[in-house]
Amino acid sequence: MNLVQKLSLLGAAAKYDVCAASGCSSGGLSGMPSPRSGVCHSFLPDGRCISLFKVLQTNSCQKDCFYCPNRVQRDIPRASFTPEELAGLFLEFYRRNYVEGLFLSSGICKSPGDTMEQIIKTAEILRYRYRFNGYIHLKIIPGAKPEYIEQAVRLASRVSVNIEAPTAAHLQKLSKLKDFNDGIINRMKWINRLQNGGLLPAGQTTQFMVGAAGESDAAILKTTSGLYHGIGLKRVYFSAFQPVAGTPLEAMSPATVLREHRLYQCDFLFRLYGFKLTDISFNQDGNLPEDLDPKLNYALNNLQLFPLEVNKASYSELLRVPGIGPASARRIVSARKQFKFNTLDELKNTGVVVKRASPFVQINGRYRESYKLVQQLELWRDSVDYSSQRQPRVIFQGSHALTSV
Ligand code: SF4
Repeated sequence: MNLVQKLSLLGAAAKYDVCAASGCSSGGLSGMPSPRSGVCHSFLPDGRCISLFKVLQTNSCQKDCFYCPNRVQRDIPRASFTPEELAGLFLEFYRRNYVEGLFLSSGICKSPGDTMEQIIKTAEILRYRYRFNGYIHLKIIPGAKPEYIEQAVRLASRVSVNIEAPTAAHLQKLSKLKDFNDGIINRMKWINRLQNGGLLPAGQTTQFMVGAAGESDAAILKTTSGLYHGIGLKRVYFSAFQPVAGTPLEAMSPATVLREHRLYQCDFLFRLYGFKLTDISFNQDGNLPEDLDPKLNYALNNLQLFPLEVNKASYSELLRVPGIGPASARRIVSARKQFKFNTLDELKNTGVVVKRASPFVQINGRYRESYKLVQQLELWRDSVDYSSQRQPRVIFQGSHALTSV
């Protein structure tokens, strides 16, 4: 298989690893293969968006993950890059401004150690021979030994071990060969200790496969919360399960993108809004209501806290109001040093989505009639059947509309 064929196969195979909302870019100059199928975009800790060359070192794998297109029993074309090939290819793309950084994942070819050696060698060539100082995200293979993890952490900007499922029992439903506690959680803890020693500027992340193991959203978010508070993860990503032909889960229903979206909304509430797991409301089956965003659901379940007076509420109280985010809450607190808010337009100028916020706030002692609509909505919510899968929609039309996304 030549380099272009390998790129096509191993770039496309990397799409199951999530590093952010991704999208393909076109590209390709004459004489050079395009990285088209392997380019995604990711956000750095400083908020900058960069394009990453996302690729597998190899799609050969000795593991049996039931959802995975690369699992050992599946009869598909297999390919591997040598570290020299992959580092050289990346550098060409980088020099041509196709990409700014590397996201390198891999199947587990012979053993976790052998695979980690290939990944580390690729990163070493980039760092030491080509003097590449930019962003490198390396996937840590579950079960990798401490010495390999330390080498990878010293070379990378960010590393990740995919957790896939919220508990050991759930992971058993996805793979008979992966070890949840020692192979994954203990590796995350080692990485955290190295990170606390001053390595890994962009931290560590992980990824859940959502909806393949019969797990609830509550179970996923409980583990997510534990990963943030107990192991210091920087980000948790969610990937809605999509069945792949020729795998044991091929007949299963896919997870909806809306479910993935609701999990991301809760993740934002944890990381940026100061919400705790106990602030999130679930249906009786442990899943998030699909037709209400979690923050609006929180507000509706805690109507006794509203309406909040925007001229007095603290920063953390403002963050509890639907339609007010960290930036607008900061602007409100800062603007109050200069003047008192009197109108919705003044609130709008801080970036608040007033259509969502107005039912939950008072402005200088006044609040809008629409607050009553929220109370009606609360009554209405009791009669909603959440068992069906529905798309996000507008709950109230007209000037008092409360959108659910
Ligand atoms: S370890 Fe599992 S998820 Fe990763 S490539 Fe192999 S079969 Fe797929």
